[in-house]
Amino acid sequence: MSCEHPLDIPPTHIILNGCGCALIRVSSDYCVYSYEKLVDHFHKHGSMTFEEARDWVNFNILDISIPNWPYIALDDEDAEETEE
Ligand SMILES: [Zn+2]
Repeated sequence: MSCEHPLDIPPTHIILNGCGCALIRVSSDYCVYSYEKLVDHFHKHGSMTFEEARDWVNFNILDISIPNWPYIALDDEDAEETEE
């Protein structure tokens, strides 16, 4: 099961294939995803428990450091930006 991304993401940006539902916004250099939404996505669509989904996201997405790799926002950061 995969969730589509909006079509207006620049081709230079790396996206997490099939994780469009977790995309929060697109900055000039990279895509920004919500950590909790990614975990939800893999829990729902990947037949994983929440714990397995967190491990998956930690190892396969958070730990990657290559240029323009998506930024993963933790919940606190989301809250700061939506309100205030
Ligand atoms: Zn999804």
